[in-house]
Amino acid sequence: MTNTPVNLLDFDLEGLAAYCETLGEKRFRATQLFRWIHQRGVADFGQMSDLAKSLREKLAGRATVTAPPILSQHESKDGTIKWLFDVGGGNAIESVFIPEDDRGTLCVSSQAGCAVGCRFCSTGHQGFSRNLATAEIVAQLWFAEHFLRRHLKTDERVISNVVMMGMGEPLQNYDRLVPALRVMLDDHGYGLSRRRVTVSTSGVVPMIERLARDCPVALAVSLHAPTDELRSHLVPLNRKYPIDELLRTCTAYLAAAPRDFITFEYCMLDGVNDQPEHAQALIALMRRHGADGLRCKFNLIPFNPFPQSGLTRSPTARVLAFGKLLNDAGMVTTVRKTRGDDIDAACGQLAGDVRDRTRVHERMARQRTIVLHPVPNHAPDQGAPRKVVS
Ligand code: SAH
Ligand code: SF4
Repeated sequence: MTNTPVNLLDFDLEGLAAYCETLGEKRFRATQLFRWIHQRGVADFGQMSDLAKSLREKLAGRATVTAPPILSQHESKDGTIKWLFDVGGGNAIESVFIPEDDRGTLCVSSQAGCAVGCRFCSTGHQGFSRNLATAEIVAQLWFAEHFLRRHLKTDERVISNVVMMGMGEPLQNYDRLVPALRVMLDDHGYGLSRRRVTVSTSGVVPMIERLARDCPVALAVSLHAPTDELRSHLVPLNRKYPIDELLRTCTAYLAAAPRDFITFEYCMLDGVNDQPEHAQALIALMRRHGADGLRCKFNLIPFNPFPQSGLTRSPTARVLAFGKLLNDAGMVTTVRKTRGDDIDAACGQLAGDVRDRTRVHERMARQRTIVLHPVPNHAPDQGAPRKVVS
């Protein structure tokens, strides 16, 4: 029986050093190997010319550097590129490259499907199949970076930012996520700064606490509603980790990083969470928490529709009016530009292909209608608004 080769994309530098030791090699050889793989995009050990011959021979047959096969590649007219990777067992996941004047951002998936089941998210409607391995998370960056360098005929770095905003809830795949983040941050890997790698979460409180200790990258929190009643309806995880607990954890996340801030994402859903009273309730909520040192900014995401949601996008004028109320109250607020929607690559449209092993898909299909929850009177004014981010 032959042993399955080890995929070296599964290791951060520490893990690769430990693996090299198991081959009877010195740990420092791992640095050379890591640079060949991540900085130069080389998968063939034979081409790693300055690597000790003994190590190259040991790796051949025992190890590989492999990304999942590409099922399709689509390019939007705005330059956005979406790849669909086959991760086996009938599951496919998506990654999206978003070029801008001053940066190149890769949106990376962490799971095949998602178990959280947010009402407005196409991945959520598909249910959950499985966590991605570290190698499958890292492979999205490894493949995209080196594909783009070849495509653009450059030796320079193309991807300057990574956002964990593809399919899945990254903090429900914590143990595989953290080594992948370390590969992204490592100077011998992609050398991305801590602030250019963003983990977006629907609010898995205990894992936010762990991330603060293990790998404090930029944090985006999908808030979407100012009250527990409405948020629990949109993001079912809120029943387990309600808003006050989530915001206290966000404040604690920033404690060790004085220049950082949290980005709160707020998906604008027509008639559901986009009324002036929702904005007022949000302002009151942030005033209560801002006083504890919660530095933040808001990012309003116009809802990207998909057929099964039964929801519609807030009209642009309403999104702008909502943003103005927040900005006037001293909360820095931007509206996210929709990119790649002609190829279904915009936020929340990533659906890949998921063999649902949960009942999420069925359950959501039964609950298509969404009701507008009244917003309770917001807390009394607690003083002048603070400018929450410089
Ligand atoms: N699971 C993580 C990260 C993936 S989703 C999270 O929920 O944060 C990335 C972002 O896209 C989240 O803010 C999510 O709320 C938002 N999103 C999901 N579906 C969307 C849709 N249909 N339109 C606009 N944004 C959406
Ligand atoms: Fe999962 Fe995020 Fe989609 Fe919610 S928005 S279902 S947490 S991927």
